[in-house]
Amino acid sequence: MRIKHYLSRIFFLLLTFSQLFYCCQNNSDKIEGLYIVTTTGHIADLVRNVAGNKVTVIPLMGAGVDPHLYKASLSDLKQLQSADLIFYNGLHLEGKMGEVFHKLSRTKKVFAVSDGILKDSLLMVDEENHIPDPHIWFDVEIWQYCLDKVCKELTKADPVNKEYYLKNTSRYREKLNGLNNFIKTQFQSIQKKERLLVTAHDAFGYYGRRYDLEVIGLQGISTLSEYGLNEITTLSRMLVSRKVKAVFVETSVSEKAIQSVIEGCKQQGHIVKIGGSLYSDALGAANTPEGTYIGMQKANLKLIIEGLK
Ligand SMILES: [Zn+2]
Repeated sequence: MRIKHYLSRIFFLLLTFSQLFYCCQNNSDKIEGLYIVTTTGHIADLVRNVAGNKVTVIPLMGAGVDPHLYKASLSDLKQLQSADLIFYNGLHLEGKMGEVFHKLSRTKKVFAVSDGILKDSLLMVDEENHIPDPHIWFDVEIWQYCLDKVCKELTKADPVNKEYYLKNTSRYREKLNGLNNFIKTQFQSIQKKERLLVTAHDAFGYYGRRYDLEVIGLQGISTLSEYGLNEITTLSRMLVSRKVKAVFVETSVSEKAIQSVIEGCKQQGHIVKIGGSLYSDALGAANTPEGTYIGMQKANLKLIIEGLK
């Protein structure tokens, strides 16, 4: 009887503590300012640079996550439902979430950052069917149009902080201009004929166009597209004939395809190394330099320059 009594007291105490804990947790989670949900980390970083600590930003896709294949989970849908503003990339990057955004846009403020880009600046992967390349963040100059789009929508949604957002935007633009010039200067140290970037999927088209680099992806513009023996053989032959030293894998794409190409080259007596893992469609882990847009660009640049030299 006594044991039963003690047990029920302990149970009661545990219940009280857990309620207390829950209550305190809820207090500390209290959100002030706009609650903003983004798809990729690139966009979350853009919003943070404009809005600083005036808003709460939640990216749905963390490090190593492939946006082409991403499906919204139940908890994502909850986040999206409670958001004041939603920013996504658009241009079919988030291929499986198009319908979700379409539905949400009837009742919520949903914006594609790519809407800030002039049509003429977009890179077409299929001219005839007007299909643009969605990997817009790799051109630092074009990414600034997305910065403007974020700033515009934030100032509209929260006019009280307009001056703050504008000031942050112009400060971040200066940083992006510095980064853009830094990338350009670094590539000048590589001979033109050696500027060939081979990656797992075709994410670096804008990068190649801006920084004068020939770019080849084994898989197409989306990781959904298939690759076969033909693509592997053609690419291996080309790497052998051009004596390419390094190819690159990506943090958000399986290494399998690129490994087959390396094996193909080996069979033809040419050794190609993996130049490293590039951040293509996802930033690095949170709270690391690569978890920011500028840090990601610098990490990629370092690997590419070292690999091609
Ligand atoms: Zn991609």
